[in-house]
Amino acid sequence: MIPTGDRAAWLQGPKATCSGVGPMPGRAWRLVLLGAPGVGKGTQATLLHDRLGCCPLSTGDVFRHAKACGCAGSPAMENALGFMKRGELVPDATVIDMVRERARCLQCGHGFMLDGFPRTVQQARTLDAMLAELHAPLDAVLSFELPTPEIVARLSGRRTCSGCKRTFHLMHSPPKAAGICDDCGAPLFQREDDRDEAIAVRLKAYDESTAPLADFYRAKGLLRVVSAEGSPDDVFARALKALGSEAMVRA
Ligand code: AMP
Repeated sequence: MIPTGDRAAWLQGPKATCSGVGPMPGRAWRLVLLGAPGVGKGTQATLLHDRLGCCPLSTGDVFRHAKACGCAGSPAMENALGFMKRGELVPDATVIDMVRERARCLQCGHGFMLDGFPRTVQQARTLDAMLAELHAPLDAVLSFELPTPEIVARLSGRRTCSGCKRTFHLMHSPPKAAGICDDCGAPLFQREDDRDEAIAVRLKAYDESTAPLADFYRAKGLLRVVSAEGSPDDVFARALKALGSEAMVRA
């Protein structure tokens, strides 16, 4: 699989330069990935990157990076990390400023897959305006859908490697040795926002703020609904089909 590069310009902000991003793809795919937490957007983003060459850009990863390096950097980011810990949405103004600072990533010749942004209609309207200014229109919005009980089961069983960030699932893809990453041997942990209390808050936030985005993008003719049931490969095959024949060919 082609590495996703260090995504430094996205994770650290505009002063950083990405390295190891892989060869320039034939075309720059510009996608938004929608779907409740736990539907497997991160896994699909990795598979889509491998096929289409576009870079996975998750706003949640920017917050987690700031938390992990202890470099929140501003009171707004400190505040944002508090919202994240409780499973609540970070205020629009903070998230929008953060994405605006990283506008260069939206113009990148590798294309992009936004994962976790936009999450409110206000964020979607702002993204629209930013992309119009950059002459970088979206190709499609993939909306991954899964019944709620299945989402809760996926999230509460998820464990993340504290070293390489690989994710496991206690039932579906357990590590060979309990609590230890198969790849790098670092201990696994449960994300604070994957605990039961936070899961309920996140799913409520998704229903209230994010589900209306499907209507927003449907009205623009960009929405492609993809069932997230089954294995990652099954879901990936459906996602490629939803994107059309150009996506079926390797970048
Ligand atoms: P994720 O990894 O996308 O589930 O994001 C983890 C957490 O980061 C969310 O539960 C929110 O607290 C915060 N977050 C990430 N992206 C956004 C966004 N676009 N708007 C508001 N909050 C966000």
